[in-house]
Amino acid sequence: MTLEIIQTRLHAACTAANRDPQTVTLIAVSKIQPIDRLRAVLSGGHKIYGENYVQETAQKWPDLRAEFGPVQVHMIGPLQSNKAKQAMDLFDAIHTLDRASLATKLATLAQSRGQCPDLFIQINTGSEPQKAGVLPQGADDFIATARALDLPIRGLMCIPPEDEIATPHFETLAQIAARNDLSGLSMGMSSDFESAITAGATHIRVGSAIFGARVYA
Ligand SMILES: *Cc1c(COP(=O)(O)O)cnc(C)c1O
Repeated sequence: MTLEIIQTRLHAACTAANRDPQTVTLIAVSKIQPIDRLRAVLSGGHKIYGENYVQETAQKWPDLRAEFGPVQVHMIGPLQSNKAKQAMDLFDAIHTLDRASLATKLATLAQSRGQCPDLFIQINTGSEPQKAGVLPQGADDFIATARALDLPIRGLMCIPPEDEIATPHFETLAQIAARNDLSGLSMGMSSDFESAITAGATHIRVGSAIFGARVYA
């Protein structure tokens, strides 16, 4: 199974980087994938998945959880504030906290619920105008603001620019995390997860390399 190939590569990258494979969480990104591909990976026993869309998650994961037992599902796509409440019900972690208004909203919801998914702050390491995320120069302030709201900030997340070498972006993310005492680093996808592991990734988000290419309707 392809998942096993990815796990083997994950282990090899950890060995090369002198890291314990237990410190790297493999998030299998299942957005848009046909349900039979997802079932195959669930049957193989994998327990941690990533999704981009609240609606798609609400449609497929309650049934899959009933069928396969407890699994973690992580939100890795942009989150609209009006879907924040639903997202808190569906997800074990949200990797895309990217603005103050969403932080405030999540904090209000967390207080009334008495719990909150683990949160990662998305940093726009390439300062790309079309991309979500806090700009690197605003990161320290934003992290402080989110912490002041009592939000469970576990780490940082980035999606490097498509046309650039990813490693410098991973290193920027690791530096921002280190100087803010954050241990989580959500970085690395199918094409670059090994270099992300070298740079310190704790959560890699791998989709097409596990499930095959996504076919958008
Ligand atoms: C879709 C997606 C992934 C997975 O991408 P692949 O190239 O298929 O591994 C990872 N992270 C985010 C934020 C995504 O949207």
